[in-house]
Amino acid sequence: MEAPLRRGCLGVGRRFALDTLARIGRNGGRSVCSSAVRRHNNPLNLPPRPAPPRQPRTLPDRPPPPPLPRMARGLPVKTPIAGVKHVVAVASGKGGVGKSTTAVNLAATLANHQNLRVGLLDADLFGPSIPLMLNLRGHEPELNDKGMLVPLVNYGVKAMSMGFLVREEDAVVWRGLMVMKALEQLLRQVDWAGTDVLVIDMPPGTGDTQLTITQQVPLDGAIIVSTPQDISLADAKKGVAMFNKVNVPILGMVQNMSHHICTNCGHTSHVFGHGGVKRTAAEMGLPLLGDIPLHSDVCETSDVGTPIVVARPDSEHARVYREMGEKVWAKLSAGKKV
Ligand code: ADP
Repeated sequence: MEAPLRRGCLGVGRRFALDTLARIGRNGGRSVCSSAVRRHNNPLNLPPRPAPPRQPRTLPDRPPPPPLPRMARGLPVKTPIAGVKHVVAVASGKGGVGKSTTAVNLAATLANHQNLRVGLLDADLFGPSIPLMLNLRGHEPELNDKGMLVPLVNYGVKAMSMGFLVREEDAVVWRGLMVMKALEQLLRQVDWAGTDVLVIDMPPGTGDTQLTITQQVPLDGAIIVSTPQDISLADAKKGVAMFNKVNVPILGMVQNMSHHICTNCGHTSHVFGHGGVKRTAAEMGLPLLGDIPLHSDVCETSDVGTPIVVARPDSEHARVYREMGEKVWAKLSAGKKV
């Protein structure tokens, strides 16, 4: 661990989170009920019965009305995260494919090799792994004088995670509005000021949390991580479809754990099939940002809280992550917000 850490002052972080979330729970209960009732009007989402045919009307020649803004059409408005220039989502269709490992190493390489000011938001509310992967477990964020949570810092990366605020066993019973509200707080009530790139470690899949982020935050791009098995790729494609639907550009795909290089003889074996992510990316017209071998070093360094780009900067894995960081930053800086 490089940077000094500030311990939470008398557990302020956890108390803050618990108090606030308890309030949300109380208020949230009513809203959940009323919106649930509305949803229950058509639980199977069947198409409405056809309306009776209308008599055609002749209208005077008028220009078409301007398109309604998003809010008037009932769509959420995308609001930038204060103090953040670029936001990148790291996503996967399935859990366990190496999404968080990729997010952490990407953040660390952007901070340490591209010399950027980097934030890492752990949006995996039900399985936060960033505290462990950044060796920040057991630390609590402080509140600043504006009542904003101050991210914890390690390896030059500012991090915020539910794992700093709530015990895992407390969060698993959350549903609906409570989850959404917690997510909103992690996005909006954290002092991200002075961040060049915020990497969001998304939860796996394409559920409510993912949709909320894609609809409410102006994302500069998404990175899809997958292993090469068909079952992982099928879900990765759903992830691509989700981002396409909400007009978030896909920066590229990352193939993880496709091959293993024997440390004794150097033989390469394709553990989960050969080049599945590469092929899928090509079919969808997406670049492959990196092909990360399966190696016990990646797992071991993650488990002790030191990303491999920091622990073994000369390794093959670190080289791949570094190149990924270069490609991602090249794409982001080609945008207009730098
Ligand atoms: P996800 O975020 O998709 O659930 P994680 O990043 O938590 O997945 O990774 C799951 C497990 O796989 C972790 O123990 C991690 O250390 C390990 N892992 C990830 N990538 C590799 C790799 N390239 N080689 C070896 N182990 C890996």
